[in-house]
Order: sequence, then C-alpha cells, then structure tokens
Amino acid sequence: MLETRRLRAGYGHITVLWDLSLRFRAGALTAIVGPNGAGKTTLLRALTGLVPHAGEILFQGERLVSRTSDLAGAGLVMVPEGRMVFRDMSVEENLHLGAYPKRCRGDLGASLDRVYGLFPRLRERRRQAAGSLSGGEAQMLAMGRGLMSAPRVLLIDEPSLGLAPVIVKEVFEIIARLKQEGTTIVLIEQNTRVALGVADDVHLMRGGRVLLSEPAARVDLDRLHDLYFAREA
Ligand code: ATP
Repeated sequence: MLETRRLRAGYGHITVLWDLSLRFRAGALTAIVGPNGAGKTTLLRALTGLVPHAGEILFQGERLVSRTSDLAGAGLVMVPEGRMVFRDMSVEENLHLGAYPKRCRGDLGASLDRVYGLFPRLRERRRQAAGSLSGGEAQMLAMGRGLMSAPRVLLIDEPSLGLAPVIVKEVFEIIARLKQEGTTIVLIEQNTRVALGVADDVHLMRGGRVLLSEPAARVDLDRLHDLYFAREA
C-alpha cells in the first residue's frame, strides 16, 4: 500500500537516505530498526513531507506530492516521540489538534471516545496540561493525537524512548491492539527485541541504507545484531 522507490532525502546538501526502496504492506506492522543516525527519523519525515525527497513515494499505487498537507489528507500520520506534545495545552486540546485534516472534523466526539477507550488515563487527565503528564502518558497522548485523524497509515517514531520497561510494555500492548484493528503501522524502534515482538516485517537501516528486509518471523536475532553493531567498513 505504501512504497518508496529509490528514495533520497537529506538536509541541505547532506544526503541521509540513499535510494531506499521499501514496501509497507496494508494492515501489517513494519518495524524499522537501526542504530543512532541510521536515518530512521529522516525516513518518517520524508514519508510525511517534512523533508524534501527525490525518488518516489507511492501510496495506494499513486505518487504522492511531497507536501505535508497532502500526506495528512491522504491519511499518512506521524506520531512523534512523546515529548513533542503541546505542553501548555490540555490533553483534550492536544487531541483536538490531531483532528485537523478536513475529512475527520465531522466526528470529533466519536474520535475522542475511541481514543479515550484505548487510553482511559487520558480521559482522567483530559483537563490537565500536557506538560504535566508522565513520559508514558505523554507518549499515549502523542499516539492518541495521531489516531484522532483516523489514519490509514500510522508512522510511530521511537515510542519506547526514555520510558520505563513496564510503561514500554503498556504502550506496545496498545500498538498491538491497533494492528489487530487493521491499522497499517510503520514503527521506528531502537529496541529490536521489543520491535520484533509486534512486527510482521522488519527492515534494518544503517548509514541511510537498508541492510536487511525480512518477515519478523524469519529474523535471526544474532545476525540482525551483527549487522546492527558491525563497524563501518
Ligand atoms: P536516532 O535513533 O538517533 O534518532 P535516526 O536513525 O532516526 O537516529 P536521523 O535522526 O534520521 O537518524 O538522522 C540521520 C542523520 O541525519 C544524522 O547524521 C543526523 O545528524 C542528520 N540530521 C538529522 N536531522 C538533521 C537536521 N535537521 N539537519 C541536519 N542534519 C540532520
């Protein structure tokens, strides 16, 4: 459903992604793993139009124009890491912001109910300033905000970052549930073990290139770690 062909992207004259050709299957959870600086976040930024790209991004067979508004309108939604919530706004105001694409403004109440159903703690804290949430709650809010726009593809950046293991478990249970409900998910994750626990497909990135693409069930963790930690040639 989502595909990149020879995707190149970077910042100014620095190229970070080198000709990435990747496929993301509909209804599947695809994990992108790789060390710091591999270009994982840049890939999500390119997919959501936040950095310009060369090459092609195809969504449901059509070439996407690289403008953020087109991509959000088409249903590609990025969930940034949890610290990127609007701290001075309440939880519910943050959620309202997620419903900005035109196609999802009509049913705000139903969208809020769905998000609060998935994250009861956000309902309890709906009037609280987002800046006062714990790390785990802020991550849930970032995910909830993404879900408010009824995404066709949810692109989640490092949901485990800085969270205690017990909270990571909770966040990943929700991610697994979203997958079961049929959401197509692209997940960036440094913690390979956690990523493999929920993923259908895995891509390992290093130095802006893909070193391995496999169904998660076939991944040999030792080999993955060898590639992950290998010294630059
Ligand atoms: P991490 O897990 O550390 O976030 P990553 O795999 O997500 O790593 P990116 O954040 O995509 O990697 O960064 C890839 C490369 O792009 C790095 O070398 C980084 O320094 C560079 N980079 C990232 N953002 C910018 C920017 N705004 N301007 C210039 N270079 C950048």
